[in-house]
Amino acid sequence: MTSKPLRLLFVSTPVGPLGTGLGGGVELTLYNIAQEMIRRGHQLQIVAPSGSTWDSLPIVQIPGNLQIIAQSQERTDPITMPENSVLANMWDYARQIQSEYDLIVNFAYDWLPLYLTPFFQRPIAHLISMGSLSNALDQIIKQVAKQFPGTIGFHSLAQAATFTLDEQFFCLSNGIDVSQYEFCAQPKQQLAWVGRISPEKGLEDAVSVAEITNIPLKIMGKLQDESYWQQICQNYPNASFEYLGFLSTSQMQQVVRECRALLMTHRWVEAFGNVAIEALACGVPVISYRRGGPAEIVKDGKTGFLVEPDSIPGLVDAVSRLDEINRHTCRASAETEFSLEALGDRFEQWFMQILNF
Ligand code: UDP
Repeated sequence: MTSKPLRLLFVSTPVGPLGTGLGGGVELTLYNIAQEMIRRGHQLQIVAPSGSTWDSLPIVQIPGNLQIIAQSQERTDPITMPENSVLANMWDYARQIQSEYDLIVNFAYDWLPLYLTPFFQRPIAHLISMGSLSNALDQIIKQVAKQFPGTIGFHSLAQAATFTLDEQFFCLSNGIDVSQYEFCAQPKQQLAWVGRISPEKGLEDAVSVAEITNIPLKIMGKLQDESYWQQICQNYPNASFEYLGFLSTSQMQQVVRECRALLMTHRWVEAFGNVAIEALACGVPVISYRRGGPAEIVKDGKTGFLVEPDSIPGLVDAVSRLDEINRHTCRASAETEFSLEALGDRFEQWFMQILNF
C-alpha cells in the first residue's frame, strides 16, 4: 500500500458490457485489478458499456453502440466507429469528470483513447490487451509511448515485441484471486480447452488431440464465431468433445480442476492467456504452444509443457508425459507469481511511476 490513496478511473473495453465474455480476458483482468485496488484503499470508478452485470464493483453504465472486435479486421483497415459509439461516449464522460481523478486507465484495444491522450488534463495509462493487429493502432501506440513515456503497459514480452517499440514500456503479468480456484489432486481422464471460440484460438488442434488420444475434451468459453464452431463439429465426427458454454469463474474452475491438463492451441501471439493461470491455480498443468504469453507463464517440464507451435504430435507427446508434472507445483506457481497481491504490486508500481509519486 502506498502512503496516499489514488483516485482511479478505469475505462473499459467498448466491445461488450462487462460480464458477457465478449471482451475476452480483459474482463477478468479489469475485475481483478479493480478488486485489488479497492482492497488496498484506493478510490475507483469503472466506466463501462450499458448492460454490464457486475454488482459488486462501482460501475457507471454508458449507452451506445459497441465497437467491432479488432481480430475481425485486416491490418491495413482504416479505423471505424459506429454512430453513437459507446467508445466515444465513455471517453466523453471521462473527459467531463477527469478532474475528480488522479489517473485514467484505458482497457480498450482501440485507436481513439490513444489519440485523445494529449487532449486530456489527467494522465492516461494504456493497458494494451492484444498483440499488434492494426497498422493504425501500432502507429498511435508508438506516438503515445514517445510523448508520454512509461504510460503503455503490455502483458508479456512476446506481446510487446510485436509492436517493435524503441520507447519505454511496462510489462505487467495478470493475476487472479487464487482462493476462488480449488486445488484438485486426482483429475479425471479428461482434458480442458478454455477460451473464446474464434479462429485465432485454434480450437481444432485440441479437438484433434482428443481424437488421437481418445481422451474426452471439455470446451468452455464464449462462442464468438458460430460458423467456425460448426466447421469443427463437422470435421471431427469421431472426436470425443463437449461444449459446456460460457461459464462463470466458479463453474469453470469446477470443470477445469478435474482435468488432467489445459490445452492452449492459439494461432496468434496470445498477449497473456488468463486461462493458463486459472488452470495452474487449480493445480492443472498447461500444455501450450510455445508462442506468446503462455510461453512466459508455463515452466516447461514443471508446470506443464511448451510445444512447437502448430504441432499436434507435439501436443500428443506432452499429454503422454503428464505424469511427470506435480500438480502442487502448478498451484504454487499461481500462488506466488499470479496472486492478486502480486498483480496489485505490479499495477500500483506502474500507476505511481506515471504519477511520479
Ligand atoms: N472465461 C470464462 N468462462 C468460460 C471461459 C472463459 O469466464 O467459460 C474467461 C476466462 O476466465 C478468461 C477469459 O474468458 O479470463 C479468456 O481470456 P484469455 O486471456 O485466455 O484470452 P482472450 O479472450 O483475452 O483472447
